Amino acid sequence: MIEKTQVDIMMVGGCIELFELDGFEGKIGLDERGLPLFTKSMKQQLPPYMPELLEKMTPKMRSDGASFADVAIDVEHEDSCDQFTDVEICNCNAVIRDQKIQMYGTIESETMTCTVCNESFTGQPGGTSSSEYAIELPLRKDGQVRSFWCFDHYYSGRLICEDCLDKEIAKRKSQTTEKDRTRPIDVTDH
Ligand SMILES: [Zn+2]
Ligand SMILES: [Zn+2]
Repeated sequence: MIEKTQVDIMMVGGCIELFELDGFEGKIGLDERGLPLFTKSMKQQLPPYMPELLEKMTPKMRSDGASFADVAIDVEHEDSCDQFTDVEICNCNAVIRDQKIQMYGTIESETMTCTVCNESFTGQPGGTSSSEYAIELPLRKDGQVRSFWCFDHYYSGRLICEDCLDKEIAKRKSQTTEKDRTRPIDVTDH
């Protein structure tokens, strides 16, 4: 079974702080190459795919000077895994099937990537606004503003760009108007 989730990695001092939905939360030290130093108990607490993901991400973040990364991942669990029961803790050999860095950077300069079309934009974040259904995350650069949107709730929604959102809305609108018109058109045609 596929679980869609996110991992938020924050670089704080010489450590990384991890926040995963429904999962492990904690601090992990880094060695001189920027690789995470896992203790035995951490490895036991972390989902099986996490050490490898972090070993890829943390040296990159350190050399880029990135202070955070939000990685959307599709994780495949075995059907018998407790992740999907009331326990909600993975006890299988889960593997990552797809991963996308959807937010990356620092407070001054952030790169957001649309999880639908893969378009990226880098700018200064700020002016986030939220409603009951969505969060708008604007990025500014040279007087240009580009917004990304996140539905569901803050840490579990995947990012979608303005263009993809417009397309999605237009598609839904045309679907509903087609349905509404079906009957009168049929009548006039006959
Ligand atoms: Zn599992
Ligand atoms: Zn897009």
